[in-house]
This record gives sequence, structure tokens and C-alpha cells, in this order.
Amino acid sequence: MSQLESAVKEIAEEMRQRPDRGEVATYIPELARADPNAFGLAVVDADGNVVYAGDADTPFSIQSVSKVFTLTIALGMVGDRLWNRVGREPSGSAFNSIVQLERERGIPRNPFINAGAIAVTDVILSGHQPREALGEILRFMQFLADDPSITIDKAVAASENRTGFRNRALANYMKSFGVIENPVDFTLGVYFHHCAIAMSCRQLAMAGRFLAYRGRNPSTGLQVVQPDRARRINAIMLTCGHYDGSGEFAYHVGLPGKSGVGGGILAIAPGKASIAVWSPGLDAAGNSHLGRIALEELTKRMGWSIFGA
Ligand code: GLN
Repeated sequence: MSQLESAVKEIAEEMRQRPDRGEVATYIPELARADPNAFGLAVVDADGNVVYAGDADTPFSIQSVSKVFTLTIALGMVGDRLWNRVGREPSGSAFNSIVQLERERGIPRNPFINAGAIAVTDVILSGHQPREALGEILRFMQFLADDPSITIDKAVAASENRTGFRNRALANYMKSFGVIENPVDFTLGVYFHHCAIAMSCRQLAMAGRFLAYRGRNPSTGLQVVQPDRARRINAIMLTCGHYDGSGEFAYHVGLPGKSGVGGGILAIAPGKASIAVWSPGLDAAGNSHLGRIALEELTKRMGWSIFGA
């Protein structure tokens, strides 16, 4: 067994047994049904080997991990003009915070907090019907993961649509500053649905490969984005991917990463691996509690931190 295979297997086993599992998100009622005992880990290395353990084939709600991919699409559509609509500084506040928006005239701090991701979704939607925009996002995920079976969990999207009052407030507030172009309900409809994409760790790790390998999908050789774009998306993941827990994540794990309230994290070890982990219990900042611990263990064992061993 390779060093990576034994690390993945042992970490999954250790995580399965841990009593501290965090709290499953309940503010989207449908997410409260997730099993707090679930744990999955999948790693795709530079040779295309997929190493996985635990519930690595169980689909979960990727939620904010989808924002890495909507950012990639929006940059592809409008390039650097995107940065007129959204910043790229860490926010230091919660993922659903509204406080900075007033002071900063409706321009969200970065594309990963909810307000920023809603603005990015609005960019993708412009000039399209909501159904087309959503189809574009879903097909991009299927293409990257090389798996046409990936779908949207409609029950999760409907559940968030019913209860997403805070996201509605954020979107309306941005609309008042002219930062949202489309009808708020259309933008939010696309946003709730792309957050509700269901994927397994294995599918997610496959989808993240282009970020680990200079914008290129290593198995098909297709250039998904230019190397400098991949590098910059990684930079934003490192500084903003875990909201006000981004500093802690960099400190402990040392990789660009993006979390979601479904308990998933996509982490990128540039040149080495694309990693997806899932454990539904969250910490106080809304990031997977055991997911972070598992990634810390993995980067330590493999020497993968971008800051050195
Ligand atoms: N759809 C979720 C929301 O908008 C995503 C949040 C997250 O994963 N951090 O609240």
C-alpha cells in the first residue's frame, strides 16, 4: 500500500471513531437530515490515481463549494471585469453577514461569502434564462468530474428557497446599489440550485483537478483555464474559502480550500493533489469540523502544506 493509501485509510478510520463531530446545519431544514456519523475522503493525485475511504461515494449537498466553480465560469465570461462587482479580500465576518455591504456600497468583499457568490451568480445569469444559466453550471461540474450522473437535489433547493430570508435580504440590498442586474428572485433561484448540487467526495475531487494542475485536466489534457487563473482562484480559496475561519484553516491545513455548510471541503495541493472531504458536522464558523481535522492530518503526513513541511 502506498503512503497516500495508508494515510487516507487510517485517517478515515480515525475520523469515523471520533466523538467530537460538530453540529449539522439546520438553517436549511433539508440539510438537517444529514447523518452526523458520515465521513468520506477522496484524493486524486498527479498520476490520476484516485484514493478514497469511508463514505467517499455518497452524494452530499456541496453548497458553498459550488462557488469555486461559479467563480471560474464567471471569470471565463467577463474576465477581470468581474472585480468591478466583487472584491477579493477576506471578510473576517460570517458567510452570511450583511454588515460590510453598507459601508462598501453594496460591493461584497469576495466571491465566496454569500453576498459575493450571489453577485457572481448574477453575472452568469445576465443574458440568459435562469434554466440556461443553471444548466451551464451543472454541465460544467459534470464535465470537470467526467460524470454526467451529477444532479441537483431539488428538495434542498426548495428548502433553501423557502427559508433563505437572509440571502434574500443580501440580494435585495445589493440590488439597491445596482450590483445585481437581474430580478432578485431569478438570481437567487439559480444560486439556491447551484448550492444544491449533490456530489460525492470522489466526484468533487475529480472536479477540482484543474486547480491542482495549472488549469489543466490531467487525464484529458484539456486546458480548463489558463495557469495564472488557476493560481489566482487558489489564492482566493486560501484567503477567503473558509470565511472567518480562513486564517485557522491556513494555519492548520496550509492549502487553498473551500467549504460548504453541507460539510464538504475541496482542498487543493498545487502540483500534488485534489482532495475532497465530507463530514456534515460543522464548527462555529460553519466549516466541517472533522473535515478540517482530517485535512490537517493528511497534509502533515504527506508534507503537502504550501508553507513547507
Ligand atoms: N446555500 C448556502 C447559503 O447561502 C451556502 C452557505 C455555505 O455553504 N456556507 O446559506
